Amino acid sequence: MKTVDNFNFKGKKALVRVDFNVPFDGDLNVTDTSRIEAAKPTIIKILEDGGSAILMSHLGRPKGQVNPDMSLKHICDEVSKIVGVSVKFVEDCVGEKAEAAAANLKSGEVLLLENLRFHAEEEKGDKTFAEQLSKLGDVYVNDAFGTAHRAHASTTVVAQFFPENRCFGYLLAKEIEAIDKVMATGEKPVCAILGGSKVSSKITIIENILDKVDHLIIGGGMTYTFIKAQGGKVGDSICEDDKQELALEILKKAKEKGVEVHIPVDVLAADDFSNDANTKVVPVTEIPEGWQGLDAGPKTLENFKEVILKSKTILWNGPIGVFEMPTFAKGTIAIGNYIAEATENGAFSLVGGGDSVAAVKQFGFEDKVSYVSTGGGAMLESLEGKTLPGIAAIL
Ligand code: AMP
Repeated sequence: MKTVDNFNFKGKKALVRVDFNVPFDGDLNVTDTSRIEAAKPTIIKILEDGGSAILMSHLGRPKGQVNPDMSLKHICDEVSKIVGVSVKFVEDCVGEKAEAAAANLKSGEVLLLENLRFHAEEEKGDKTFAEQLSKLGDVYVNDAFGTAHRAHASTTVVAQFFPENRCFGYLLAKEIEAIDKVMATGEKPVCAILGGSKVSSKITIIENILDKVDHLIIGGGMTYTFIKAQGGKVGDSICEDDKQELALEILKKAKEKGVEVHIPVDVLAADDFSNDANTKVVPVTEIPEGWQGLDAGPKTLENFKEVILKSKTILWNGPIGVFEMPTFAKGTIAIGNYIAEATENGAFSLVGGGDSVAAVKQFGFEDKVSYVSTGGGAMLESLEGKTLPGIAAIL
């Protein structure tokens, strides 16, 4: 795997695809700079070598139209502050102006291009557009994991114009290594914790992961489809009746492959989908009508704890309860604590894909797990076993 460490950028212009798709407040101030900070090490490496960096990114969904509210010029000061260099800005990403700005760039300087998605060709993966981008730099660096699952011009197609001179930035390399540790090279026992609301949205991940893990913990809303399929009473809990057969098939396959599946035995049930609902702990197979399971119960958490603490490699995707409501967040917080403890004891832990990342950040576990993925959709597709186009293009 070629990374920026395989190159000396002295006198070179690096064309770097970053993910600066950051959130703004109403006055167009950046409200979360973590994506800019995440790209900093790669930019610094290029500059310290004596090279210059040309940064390109999308922002929002302008759908091929110029939209002043989605201009990357609004983040220029923020990037300057974080990187520690006064960043230049050019109001297009291809064409004469962009080419002139790139040509005039000196060693140690940084140029930020205008939003790639102001051109419809970007999302179409247009080859001519990609070739125009390629004229701006000598080396192509992809450091945008969040868009690595898209075959867009700047994430994938452009790489073919740098047959020898293309590589991964540090952030993307770290994402690839973390996924590889869970899916291929991690120390056993390997445990996957899958939560979230529905079996249907996780099925491809479950199927792929059965070949990689020793333990599969199932939690969250998915639980009830499995329980009902096995004859349990789930009351008003979220349940996909048309996925019951699939649930039984998963359990059968897991058994054949020697994967131990751990499903909740008790739950915190509520008489309403509300933080102020009446609650009680009941066996997962005996949830009364009018009640719904919204978090894992104490016995379940004890069982999950035992599995997590004996695992050496841990993947967590999806909350274990409705963590957005404090009354039903305890299970998700407990899982975060067990993973933190396992990590402290030497396990490798990866948290990825959407809501579990939000939960980890909200409850302060970010620094207590080995790696928190920065890419939602890209992470999910990786866990489904797909080769991401942005990664394949560099390899
Ligand atoms: P997903 O996007 O499929 O990962 O699902 C995330 C959502 O699942 C979160 O918004 C949680 O509130 C929700 N969730 C977790 N457990 C339950 C449950 N027992 N019942 C309903 N929703 C749940």
